[in-house]
Amino acid sequence: MYHFRTVIGLLFFCCIFKYTVSAPQHDDYVYSDEDLKPTCDDSNCKLPNCSCFGAQPNVPINERPQFLMLTFDDAITVANIDTYKKIAAKGVRMTFFVCHEYNDYSLTQKLYSDGHEIAIHSISHESNTDLWRDGDETRWKQEMVGMRAMLTTFGGLPQAELVGHRGPFLQTAGDTTFSVIHKEKFLYDSTMPSRSYMDPPIWPYTLDHGYGQDCQIEPCPNGNFPGLWEIPMLQYHRSSREGDFYCSMLDACTPYPITAADTKDFLMKNFLRHYKSNKAPFPMFLHEAWLRDNARLEGFLQFLDEVLKYQDVRTATIRDVVEYMRNPTPYRLFTPYQQSSPKPCNKVETCSYKEPLRFMKSCVKCPKYYPWVGTPMGKIPPKNFPNN
Ligand SMILES: [Zn+2]
Repeated sequence: MYHFRTVIGLLFFCCIFKYTVSAPQHDDYVYSDEDLKPTCDDSNCKLPNCSCFGAQPNVPINERPQFLMLTFDDAITVANIDTYKKIAAKGVRMTFFVCHEYNDYSLTQKLYSDGHEIAIHSISHESNTDLWRDGDETRWKQEMVGMRAMLTTFGGLPQAELVGHRGPFLQTAGDTTFSVIHKEKFLYDSTMPSRSYMDPPIWPYTLDHGYGQDCQIEPCPNGNFPGLWEIPMLQYHRSSREGDFYCSMLDACTPYPITAADTKDFLMKNFLRHYKSNKAPFPMFLHEAWLRDNARLEGFLQFLDEVLKYQDVRTATIRDVVEYMRNPTPYRLFTPYQQSSPKPCNKVETCSYKEPLRFMKSCVKCPKYYPWVGTPMGKIPPKNFPNN
């Protein structure tokens, strides 16, 4: 069990340090307000609902599963479903952080029925990040709880299974956002990038004793949110002739790998940082567009083929990983979380709207107006639509 806070600035400017999760030994360590928070330890933080920052499963490393957490963000559409099918054909379980505009609720229902996880990524995905950073609780609730209601209504998904959250552009409003998702009974957030804790990688933890990571995108939460899990977006390292780069999503690392071999090599190097240390779940967080290049998709699939041969590697939804964290076992005993059944999607409705000019595929009768922020059931005309 480890616990400590550190000086963020030091890390920004000293990237060459191989940073380890252990107590600082330096005499000149500068104590911050964070250090004054109550220490998290086994006496005041117990599984299944509390796990300290820095804690690892009580399972010997060679018996831990090495999870691959594949997640894709944004709307599920006819344009990206074929890629998802190719990946799913390998027996891979994925998590989809879904937003509303252009989302096909019938395809979403199908992915969920096939055992993938659906999570929440806002209704509007508004592109002005200031509006997310400065958004109040009402706005965040309308976006996130509203999206959950849309998935439940138009996709027939059980509300109790829609428990994951990722803010658009990895932007939150700090405590405002976390208060909303905590009150609204989300089980986990996966929005917060970390460079300081990528090597060795940190395991997911709960926010009972506050946020433990470096703050890459301000503001970060200051409060305590008991029982809410944080799945850190551990950054990736990309080295090339041009230098070393770090990114929070695979498709943000430059230079882009172009060949299949380079793609596979990029993934493998990052994977091994997890596999050869403490086996913290390996995030494979990206957008589907990155895989529309045939060579890159080929390299991506080759990587999966190779690591899935390892006896201790498991693909998992984030929900699977959270459930595992609550009750860790040797990898041979790992069983995926069983989601409850969705409502059937027997007749797919294509709903067309003129103002705004949008269509929507739904598993139920079309709402009168295009559903949007503040009117997720489409009972009144949308306001504040970007192009309205
Ligand atoms: Zn997004």
